[in-house]
Amino acid sequence: MANAEEQKLHYPFGDELPAPGAALEVAPGVRWVRMPLPFALDHIHLWLLRDRDGDGREGWAIVDCGVADDATRTAWEQVFARHLDGLPVLRVIVTHMHPDHIGNAAWLCERWNCRLWISATDWNAARIASQSTTGFGGEHAAAFFRMHGLVDPQAIAKVRARGGYYASMVPEVPRQFRRLMDGQVLRIGDHAWRCIAGYGHAPEHIALHCEALGVLVSGDMVLPRISTNVSVIDIEPEADPLPLYLASIERMRALPAGTLVLPSHGRPFTGLHERIAQLLRHHEERFADTLAACRARPCSAADLLPVLFRRALDLHQTTFAMGEAIAHLHALAGRGLLRARTDADGVRRFEATGA
Ligand SMILES: [Zn+2]
Repeated sequence: MANAEEQKLHYPFGDELPAPGAALEVAPGVRWVRMPLPFALDHIHLWLLRDRDGDGREGWAIVDCGVADDATRTAWEQVFARHLDGLPVLRVIVTHMHPDHIGNAAWLCERWNCRLWISATDWNAARIASQSTTGFGGEHAAAFFRMHGLVDPQAIAKVRARGGYYASMVPEVPRQFRRLMDGQVLRIGDHAWRCIAGYGHAPEHIALHCEALGVLVSGDMVLPRISTNVSVIDIEPEADPLPLYLASIERMRALPAGTLVLPSHGRPFTGLHERIAQLLRHHEERFADTLAACRARPCSAADLLPVLFRRALDLHQTTFAMGEAIAHLHALAGRGLLRARTDADGVRRFEATGA
């Protein structure tokens, strides 16, 4: 994204970031925690919300968990020792099933003897993914990427070898959970937080909005610097997730313009309406680029990588980029502007319909 766009957003905390194991108060009873990640995207933001349970016991709700590794758990222990005001964790809320968000849920729920709160769809998807391979690697993912034109034998070998990728970051998902649904209102401490379901990024992502505080925990649905990953993966090969994602963020336009957005990646910001407009524009531009490329010659998803991503990609980024390229192709096919065909080499290419 162009810097000019980022400058239209306002970052009320400037360059300040919580150190590993620390927490920074961003609104009354809302604390910001930053954890390391072993990817090019090197951090995730997690949130502590001042809470009270049914028996009137004071404590905290945790929103999102970090990946299940030693660095993250050590940082959590430091947060527990210094930043909970001596109070316990009463529940663990997870926005969605991706490893950086749910990785430590089982560890945290056991550590504090508390419940996981998550959408039923993402709980089920996480349970299955932690026990098998779904979209992140293995034989099926390799065949799927190959069909979409990723023929580089080294890349395919790496995808194939990565069968246990999800489980390595999410070794366990709690056996029990409480279900979050769109529109549900949670009483967390002194405040009401409304669940906003979002689609296209994860099966059923839950963002949390507190009207009284003017705060949105946006998870991965609205990020200030990067666009949210919206991918087609091998377990749902005909999926058309981009219209779902775009409709989901359009709905967030109904929130007040001055809302403080707490994203999972990138700094807290205000300027939600501007950011949503930027993301809608970004995807329209990518649609135009995709369509132009396919009008010049039929393109596979792999053919589109240099068109959509004008930089070198590592394997992790390549698999995400492939998923995103397929999503753009499927959305245009869904609009009747492209048509898929499978060529003699087994590769699926998309040609313009002339519509
Ligand atoms: Zn995610």
